[in-house]
This record gives sequence, structure tokens and C-alpha cells, in this order.
Amino acid sequence: ANLVARCMFMSGVRRGDVFQNMVGYGLFTGGLGFQYGAERLGTLTIPSGSGNSKRQITLMGDFGTTVIHIIPSYALHLWKVFEEMGLDPKKDTQLRIALIGAEPHSDATRQRIEEMYGVEAFNSYGLSEMNGPGVAFECPEKSGMHFWEDHFIIEVIDPKTLKALPDGEEGELVFTTLMREAMPLIRYRSKDLATIFPEPCRCGRSHRRISRIKGRSDDMFILKGVNIFPLQIDTVLMTLAEVGTNYQVVLERENFEDKMIVQVEVRPEFFKGDLRQLERLRRQITESLRSEILVTPKVELVEPDTLPKSEGKAVRVIDRREM
Ligand SMILES: [Zn+2]
Repeated sequence: ANLVARCMFMSGVRRGDVFQNMVGYGLFTGGLGFQYGAERLGTLTIPSGSGNSKRQITLMGDFGTTVIHIIPSYALHLWKVFEEMGLDPKKDTQLRIALIGAEPHSDATRQRIEEMYGVEAFNSYGLSEMNGPGVAFECPEKSGMHFWEDHFIIEVIDPKTLKALPDGEEGELVFTTLMREAMPLIRYRSKDLATIFPEPCRCGRSHRRISRIKGRSDDMFILKGVNIFPLQIDTVLMTLAEVGTNYQVVLERENFEDKMIVQVEVRPEFFKGDLRQLERLRRQITESLRSEILVTPKVELVEPDTLPKSEGKAVRVIDRREM
């Protein structure tokens, strides 16, 4: 609770804020973890949980919510619900800060959330095995997440050789707890891939920073011999203005050949039936993805709201290949 309170304070949350915790409670530690942290900080805390989008928006209005904790893919989805209700979160809410985390997301996704809601969005990192949230968090500089070196020793190792890597190289994060009494863990492998930035941060805090989590070493998939992280696809798609708030990647195997199909929702204003324009967009997305992941995907443009939505962590990759 103290660490989450520290993280929230760093991002600018103060006593007097109204905090809506829009993630699942129960075994998912992001719920209760932020609840206790926010109570420690002294905000009015609304345990709204995940899902039930219209009620979430009503709560925001009734309580004058200023800070939300939300899973990024759900934030993108919720914005559409605002739109359906004829509301604009920039004008019709008092939101100023969004704490986002619990699933890998790109900086482009963060920028979208900031624009859509008119907020400052901060990336949060934690894992259940290390008490949940509050392990590392972004400061206002938004260039990497400070991890709390008074509570954890963090190392980066090469997941294959298990050797420790120097700061600045990417590898798997390994944690040792310093303050836990009941269940200390020593050199616990997280499977989360990131880099440690050794340089001091411009904000002046001396705790070192880790990069955005690139993915889990086990959510990487291999297509035609190329290693691909879902985050690479997220970065490409969320940078394009025409792309809507949802997409899905399907992997198939046909005649012993792997295929990647990327289904992308197009924003309604761009989905106007001008086939040439859509075809141009489709080619542009294919080309951008190809230059990032070095494999040519089959891109399908679909109408807004046709792909399955998620209210918890998003399932973006569906692997239908049979081995
Ligand atoms: Zn900083």
C-alpha cells in the first residue's frame, strides 16, 4: 500500500482527488493493490471494478472523478461508449490523470488515451508475486519507470544463458525482495522483458528506471522463423490516425505455411465506402507492419465495433496453428 501510494503521489495524485479504480478486484492484484494505496494517500476512492461501461461513466459524473486506474485496451473501448452516449470525456468529466498498466501497451496507445480523455497518462508496473502493483511507475518525465530500489533488487538476465546483463541491455527482469518478511523471494524470474536505464532521471529521483515492458518472453510468437512481440504491432497500429480502438491478430497454418491475419477496426469517419481510399489504407498498414516485423501480414479492415471487445486484459493474438 505504501509503494502504490508513493507511485500515485509521484504521478501527481493528491489527497482531495477522486479516484475511480476501474480494474477487477478479487485475485487480480491491481484492484485491491490500488484501493489500499489510494486509501493510504487519502483520496476518495470508488471501487468501481471492471466492466459495466455506462455505469462507470455515470459514476465519473456523479462523483466528479479526477483520477482513474484503467487497463489501456479498456480505456480505448470506453471512449467509444462515451461517444455513443453523446459525451466527450475532455469536456464532460473532470479527469486529469489516468494510471494505466496491467497489459503491455505502446507509447502510441498512451498518447491516444491522453488525447481522447485530455489527461496525463502514467504507465504502471507490478506483478502479483511482488505484492502486485507499485513495483515501478512513471514519473512526470515519462521516460521509463522508476523502480523502488529500497524494496527490490532488480537484475536483467539473458533468458537463455541466465547470465546477468549490464544496464542498457534488454532481457528478463529478475526480482529479489528486500522488505518482505513472510515470503521473501530471491532472484525470482518474471518472464517480463525490459531494459534498465542507468542514467539519472531528469526529475531528480535517484531510483533507476526500467523501460516499458516489451512483453513477456512467453507471449512472443514466432512466424516464419521471425520473433514477433504483440507490442510491435500495437505501436504501428496506434500511430495511424485512421485506425480505430480495436484490432486482433490471428495466426493460421495453411498448407504448412504460417499466415498472419491482422484485423483492424477503422474509425467511422474513415469507413465511408470509398474503396480506393480503404485500399490505400490497407496497403499503408501492411507496409508499416512489414517494415516493423519483417513479415508481410494479411490486413483486413473491418467496421468499427465488429471485433470482440475485452473488459479485462485484452486478448489480441489468437493462435490457430496446429503443431
Ligand atoms: Zn523520473
